[in-house]
Amino acid sequence: MSRDGDVSSETTRSARERLSRDAERSGYHLNPDAAKTERIVRGLLVNEGRFGYRSCPCRLAAGERGRDRDIICPCDYRDADLTEWGSCFCGLYVSAAVLKGERALAAVPERRPPGGAAAKRPAAAGGIAQGRALPVWRCRVCGYLCARDGPPEVCPICKAAADRFERYV
Ligand code: SF4
Repeated sequence: MSRDGDVSSETTRSARERLSRDAERSGYHLNPDAAKTERIVRGLLVNEGRFGYRSCPCRLAAGERGRDRDIICPCDYRDADLTEWGSCFCGLYVSAAVLKGERALAAVPERRPPGGAAAKRPAAAGGIAQGRALPVWRCRVCGYLCARDGPPEVCPICKAAADRFERYV
């Protein structure tokens, strides 16, 4: 792949297939609209060629990993958007309800704070950005722990549904 965004259809297709397999293994789903997902995946690959990481193709990247960390795909906002809107901001990932046709896709409003998450976090000594304290959720089936605003739709380890999670801390 060149730095000017020259990504072949074959490379894009195989990256989409790999992403889809990885997503399904973790309880996530790619949008079944293959043409749309290939456009988004191509954008991810173009950004990877430009910046060295797959920053979200639907957002303006700063081009510095530290400032773009929250929008490296899958971004920090994916899960909350899947829960609330049934899809991530770009429409690459969809919820199980959307996949089964039980819920229609809607336009997803931007959840990222202006300037990005890094702009909201004061840097601590040593340059590590300090995030706000998030609640910790525990899967009651397998014990998987995650710190986030709410439990995931599906446990990425054992695939238990969100209602099998309890707030741990
Ligand atoms: S919105 Fe998030 S999860 Fe969706 S393509 Fe962009 S970075 Fe990836």
